[in-house]
Amino acid sequence: MRLLYCLLGCLAFASAQAQVSAVHHDLSVTLEPGSRELSVSGKVRFTGSGMAELRLAPEFTLQRLTLDGKPLSETKMRGALIGGLRVRTLALGNKPAAHMLELQYRGTLAPLAQADRREALGNLPAMADERGSYLPASYAWYPDLGTETLTYTLALDVPATQRAIAPGRLVKETTRGNRYRARFEFSRPAEGVTLMAGPYRTKEIKYKNLRLRTYFHPEIAELADEYLNSISGYIELYNGWIGAYPYTAFSIVSSPLPTGYGMPTLTYLGIEVLRLPFIRHRSLGHEILHNWWGNGVYADWRCGNWSEGLTTFMADYTYKERQSAGAARAQRLSWLRDFAAIPEGQDIPLRDFTSRHHSASQTIGYHKAAFLFFMLRDQLGADAFNRGLRRFWKEQQFRVAGWADLQRAFEPASGKKLDIFFAQWLTRRGAPQPVIHDAQITQQNGRHRIAVTLAQPAPAYALRVPLVVTTAGGKQEHIVELNRERQHYTLESASRPLSLALDPDLRLFRRLDAAELPPILRQVINDPATLTVITEQDSAFQEAARRLAERLLDHAPRYIVQYDRAQTLLLIGTHQAAQEFLLKHKLPAQPATLRGKGSAQVWAARQDGGKTLLVVSADDSAALEALLRPLPHYGSESYLAFDGGKVIERGVWPAPSREWLFPAH
Ligand SMILES: [Zn+2]
Repeated sequence: MRLLYCLLGCLAFASAQAQVSAVHHDLSVTLEPGSRELSVSGKVRFTGSGMAELRLAPEFTLQRLTLDGKPLSETKMRGALIGGLRVRTLALGNKPAAHMLELQYRGTLAPLAQADRREALGNLPAMADERGSYLPASYAWYPDLGTETLTYTLALDVPATQRAIAPGRLVKETTRGNRYRARFEFSRPAEGVTLMAGPYRTKEIKYKNLRLRTYFHPEIAELADEYLNSISGYIELYNGWIGAYPYTAFSIVSSPLPTGYGMPTLTYLGIEVLRLPFIRHRSLGHEILHNWWGNGVYADWRCGNWSEGLTTFMADYTYKERQSAGAARAQRLSWLRDFAAIPEGQDIPLRDFTSRHHSASQTIGYHKAAFLFFMLRDQLGADAFNRGLRRFWKEQQFRVAGWADLQRAFEPASGKKLDIFFAQWLTRRGAPQPVIHDAQITQQNGRHRIAVTLAQPAPAYALRVPLVVTTAGGKQEHIVELNRERQHYTLESASRPLSLALDPDLRLFRRLDAAELPPILRQVINDPATLTVITEQDSAFQEAARRLAERLLDHAPRYIVQYDRAQTLLLIGTHQAAQEFLLKHKLPAQPATLRGKGSAQVWAARQDGGKTLLVVSADDSAALEALLRPLPHYGSESYLAFDGGKVIERGVWPAPSREWLFPAH
């Protein structure tokens, strides 16, 4: 119960110097999803001394509580309400000793949340419903002694129309009369106890020694086979890459809520989520990999969560790499583009990322962290990198580990000191901005020399910068070390260099400058300096255009009639009028890919001065009206074609790379 411990930790330490460890629960749980009644009885064994505290959510009434066989007094049993939880103190004596609590309690759980967004699912209570019950580990539906980890056995009892599941090994299950009973055992240190139940159809296959299962709602039961077949492929991949899968089972459990949770031995995914075709090819692998990173080695919340970044790198990103080098580069570009959209100084150092609260922290905690591992592999080479991963797994399995432990595994695996690498990527906000400050070519004895000066803002990062020289004969890559604000290099080339590019393959996490970003709608939407032109006299069209501009732009639109200088521009018109305007002002014409498609076309383009131009070109006012609702959702696209309100084509232009061009003879 990591989160709860985090919030209440200081309180517990202030009031009582209790030392509690080795907590083991043996609980019998009866759940009636229809009436939402939960009753629990069982034993909690632990070692401890001093004044310990037992916490339970306030909707539960204790019917029995004994410590080492002695019933607790009425007042002690009732406890006090602190921080929304019922807290009962337990006097354990001065010397650490083994203790046992016996308890029995019951209560009515909350109804199923009406949450329809993932972000709203952060702090859920224990909820029950016949469509699905979810009792999260982060909620005190089970007795909490404030330790970081515990082990457990759970005997679950639900109506026979339901199936119940918890992380761990399924020891036994029976359906007798009108009850379904299942017993789960979790003997590794778990961060808490999660319980799920629902009207599930289960399907099972054996893979080597593993029990692979789906617990699916009837309406998606036909998806079971393809999901079951996908699981083994991922387990095979990570077995070979990291080390043996640490558990004996893996299940996919469907949820009536739009969840996407990974727990040891299972993933809990929304019914609608499971229906999406790409889940099997991406998210499932990510959740399975969390059995190694996150649920096999635990992330230390006090010094940053590395597990999302490593999982994103070894799952989502790796699947792109397997697809093609182009797909992998496109993924890196989209991460860098998202990072460039965070205003400078508004991000957090990677070390401060503990979980996902909003999209900016996702950009840091998932994408910047994944990029860190990508750069580390570039620096160490794949073999040493993989040795480091296996070493980390071997050393930290079922322990709480931080970034420093990763560094300690990669250093001996590669024989390199990585203090600077980890320090700069973990503790600094923002990203480096290395540029080619100057480049000159000279010729000597038939060889060509390029004198290059690279520069970066202070304080300098230590970077391995790829420089790519293009000649008539092809491209040649040089890796140079940059660790000062300004540094000089000499590159040699057998044939005459035509151009020099800094990191065109996007192998460095860096803040892209405007010239490297493909034009996208958002650059016009976000810019407070955006000017708007409506190139149509018809009043109905003008009215629709004004409403669209107001809805689309972040700032109040500023309308102009004459356009005479390079400025971020939103142009709205009928096809004919828009084209005439573009031609007259020597602005980029309509891209060929969009010509004649649908009832409206929208595209972003770069003007000569570097500012972005956004054109909305529509058949008539009705075609424009139809964009009001959908268009604002597509800020990260470069172009779209609409048929009425429906998108029929969209995409992002290829990003230009910044090149230093050498003069011809
Ligand atoms: Zn994850």
